[in-house]
Amino acid sequence: MVDFIGVRRVQELVRDLGPAPFISGLAGEIEADYRRWDEFEKSPRHATHSSLGVIELMPTSDGRQYGFKYVNGHPKNTAQGLLTVMAFGVLADVASGYPLALAEMTLLTALRTAATSVVAARTLARADSRVMALIGNGSQAEFQSIAFYDQLGVRELRLYDVDPHATEKLVANLAGLELAGLRVVRCRSAAEACAGADIITTVTADKRNATILTPQMIAPGMHLNAVGGDCPGKTELHADILRRPDARVIVEFEPQSRIEGEIQQMPPDFPVVELAAVLRGAAPGRASAAEVTIFDSVGFALEDFAALRYVYKLHRERRGTRQTIDLIPDIEDPKNLFALLAAPRTAPARVPELLEA
Ligand code: NAD
Repeated sequence: MVDFIGVRRVQELVRDLGPAPFISGLAGEIEADYRRWDEFEKSPRHATHSSLGVIELMPTSDGRQYGFKYVNGHPKNTAQGLLTVMAFGVLADVASGYPLALAEMTLLTALRTAATSVVAARTLARADSRVMALIGNGSQAEFQSIAFYDQLGVRELRLYDVDPHATEKLVANLAGLELAGLRVVRCRSAAEACAGADIITTVTADKRNATILTPQMIAPGMHLNAVGGDCPGKTELHADILRRPDARVIVEFEPQSRIEGEIQQMPPDFPVVELAAVLRGAAPGRASAAEVTIFDSVGFALEDFAALRYVYKLHRERRGTRQTIDLIPDIEDPKNLFALLAAPRTAPARVPELLEA
């Protein structure tokens, strides 16, 4: 039997712990895994594109456990009442190859994306950052808001979305969370949202080279958390922002980010720094108060691996609904797989006659 960690179980675990502590714990796991970067088998994710979106497989292993995620990205889905991003994944034991758990990963992706954003921002944003512009107020937005409120001390969120209903939904959800001292400001444009911000998070969904941020919106000392551009032909930043002489671009896994990130707009030798290098002390975090830091996030398999291990541990340790799923045959004689198909016997089976040669 394989553990099944479905949507209801993840809801239960997150509610039990609280979303902010859940994200904080997950951020710790992600950071710890980035610090042991060399132990991981790494590859750009396998993406299958269509005109409407992408379906991706994201595998990785640390030699002891293996994980993969199936995830889509379909920006037009919401018009039909479907999610832009949904996912599920498997955690497996390398020694036997047996799966340990099958897990929902739609909620987990939002949680791990927010956790990864704060892992990067903790070392790249100015320590006195209190104001964040949040452009794109869809599914990921609450998770980003909670993470930056809790982990970075953000106390003003400046919201903008081309769809005012998305912003109203976010405002209502944030009000329900009763985050003490948080000021929420609705803005009429991305430029208005960015004015006076210390951090800008872009998390929009549009399958094109969009220009959510233009160079005029960027001031010295800002940290950009660019989350929405994560596919070939799908970016959010004007290339001149990346070219700023005072800017530094931090990516997750360079070979994948060259294909999918904001830096797909740049020449192949455009300098970037991997997040693992910063977290391991091989490259500096924020270098000065005036530096513009850009976390060009696309989502890397290591973050999903950390999320799978984290939720599996909580699932095993904590009380509540524990389900299993008969995904793998459970048989007495491992060479007798066919026994699973033999008709259940009520009467003694007839032994076929043996013909003497
Ligand atoms: P969503 O569809 O729920 O929300 C996206 C929002 O962006 C919508 O409300 C839409 O109206 C808004 N939007 C679109 N164009 C805009 C524009 N020009 N200006 C302002 N707002 C605009 O999607 P989601 O699940 O919140 O995901 C958002 C994006 O983040 C997607 O592109 C997704 O692929 C990406 N994503 C990245 C990671 C990562 O690890 N980097 C993880 C998850 C999702």
